[in-house]
Amino acid sequence: MLVGYLPVTKLECFTEQRRSNVIHQLFHHCMESLLEPLKTVGKTGKEMTCADGWVRRVYTILAAYVADFPEQCLVACCLESRCPRCLVLPNDRGSTAWSNPRDQKEITEILRQRAEGLKPKAFVSQGLRPVNPFWADLPYTNIFQCFTPDIHHQLHKGLFKDHIVTWCTEAADGGSDEVDGRFKSMSRHPTLRHFKKGISLVTQWTGNEFKNMEKIFLGVIAGTVDEQVIRLTRAVVDFISYARFEVHTERSLDQMDRAWSAIHENKNILVELHIRKKFNIPKFHSLIHYVSAVHSHGTLDGYNSESPERLHIDFAKVPFRAGNRRDYTAQMATWMSRHDAVRRYEMFLRWAKGNGVIENEEDDDNGEAKQRKRQETEEDVEVEGCRNYKVAKNPGYGNVTVDDLINKFHAADEHFLWYLQEFLLAHSFHIPASPNIPIGVFKRLTVTLPQIPQVAALDPATLRDTIRTILPEPPQDRREAVPAQFDTVLAFEKAGLTAFSDPLNPLKGAYFFPHRCKSLADCYRDASKKDLSVAQVRVIFKLPPEYGHFDIPLAYVEWYTPLQSYVPSLGMYQISRSFRNRYRRASIIPVDQIVQSCHLIPKFGTKTGRTWEPENVLNSADTYYLNPDLRLHDFVLFRYMDPTSSRT
Ligand SMILES: [Zn+2]
Repeated sequence: MLVGYLPVTKLECFTEQRRSNVIHQLFHHCMESLLEPLKTVGKTGKEMTCADGWVRRVYTILAAYVADFPEQCLVACCLESRCPRCLVLPNDRGSTAWSNPRDQKEITEILRQRAEGLKPKAFVSQGLRPVNPFWADLPYTNIFQCFTPDIHHQLHKGLFKDHIVTWCTEAADGGSDEVDGRFKSMSRHPTLRHFKKGISLVTQWTGNEFKNMEKIFLGVIAGTVDEQVIRLTRAVVDFISYARFEVHTERSLDQMDRAWSAIHENKNILVELHIRKKFNIPKFHSLIHYVSAVHSHGTLDGYNSESPERLHIDFAKVPFRAGNRRDYTAQMATWMSRHDAVRRYEMFLRWAKGNGVIENEEDDDNGEAKQRKRQETEEDVEVEGCRNYKVAKNPGYGNVTVDDLINKFHAADEHFLWYLQEFLLAHSFHIPASPNIPIGVFKRLTVTLPQIPQVAALDPATLRDTIRTILPEPPQDRREAVPAQFDTVLAFEKAGLTAFSDPLNPLKGAYFFPHRCKSLADCYRDASKKDLSVAQVRVIFKLPPEYGHFDIPLAYVEWYTPLQSYVPSLGMYQISRSFRNRYRRASIIPVDQIVQSCHLIPKFGTKTGRTWEPENVLNSADTYYLNPDLRLHDFVLFRYMDPTSSRT
């Protein structure tokens, strides 16, 4: 809720010397009057109706202050070369040593003495500014404990984009040209933004772009920088992933702490490479307070400054543009209070008429649109007996002959028929398969990822995992050619092992039950070594009715080598295409043997292959890394839960 606007004025009436102090004091003065009611209510309490309908006496205490670094310093009355939470000296900000926390009582007293014209020594040693702070009289508040970490500014934008990306690009053989080339030829995934022009030319960065870079950056720089730079980058990416967890345990916090230690153990390589002299950077120091902030304030997703930044648009920019820009503060305040009134009245109507009345009215207006939407979503139907798998009701490519799959679309090699025969025999079905049989070919399979506690997934779309098998199409008239896209997956190679279908089987079912987190770990520990493999899905199909006893669609997949070779510095499995007698090792499996999609990063080595493009890179490179940073789900499976990863 918007409580008030703060004035932004240059205060040109003051001399330049005094101006900055007066601006700081003005901010504190405004905040004091905004928070005035907290002083009495914090002490005496006030009866309030809670969401459950009970009335309770509530004591409102300032407990958290979400702000970026300059504003934190402004609130804490400290210089920007200091930490708003602790008394670290400017030159020690790159070290791992703990400093005493700032003390509210002590600092209030120092500032009071200074205001009286005295010159307390601590004023200089603690790096303070002469301000009469708004928080001095707030009951039970320790303002220095209120500052929460800021994933958006400190990690994604600060530590990762501004520092690590810049340093690693400098450290890379071939510099930004080489790094750009690798971004351009990166293999695709539906959840991954493709950097068509590399990264060095991008001038306007959004939060979404930082996050997409983080997903692949480690694999991008592998081979072109010193191994210790890799370890440093991996520690940073790990730290950021742990900071994004929406549920923490002592174990995950311990892992986060280890990542922090690893950053410090490996940072000096940048000094040796003459890229940096020191690490006296506020964002670098801020990491020291992350674990304790989770202990005191809960997981960090609740304090991300991305949401208030969004509110800046709704509460400031939109109301400003709505008026004629004269006497805009009054206009904006009126606009805000009217909108607030309309919103409350709507809520009242909804409550008075019974829930959902307003939605129903809208429904009448958009009835047609809704129906269209329903038809669209109906296109994907659950696979019989496996509620986590969906394919289109009717195969997207209709019926395609085996011969066309092999010779026209190159989706399968000539052994497809042999594998089909083998699959049919294994299921005691003795109709010989012929190259002319038409099979129903799908464009994609959708798998629902398991609910895991680390990802809240309030929006079901975050759990939707799409696996595409797009057949190539030549250009026709004005339509451009469609490149082939065969996605990679994690799948059980052994027949009979499925990810979701059988909740009664302890191994298979483990993946199904989200709340049994330990079982998920067990599943992974047991499965990763011997049962789970990476494969590229070439065809998703269903057999014609004469083979009708297979309810579940089938997938023709080409396997990669088992998950055995682990690269400790990268923390990734290294795999390559698997061959048998010079042909790709393949099989036909029911789609419920597929666990989820995965992303393979080509091993670029010291130099990118010149002909590598996102469209062909899965066939061009010799070796690939299985990407653990694609989504938090992948991170939990391959880093947090994988025992191989925690040993390194
Ligand atoms: Zn600090």
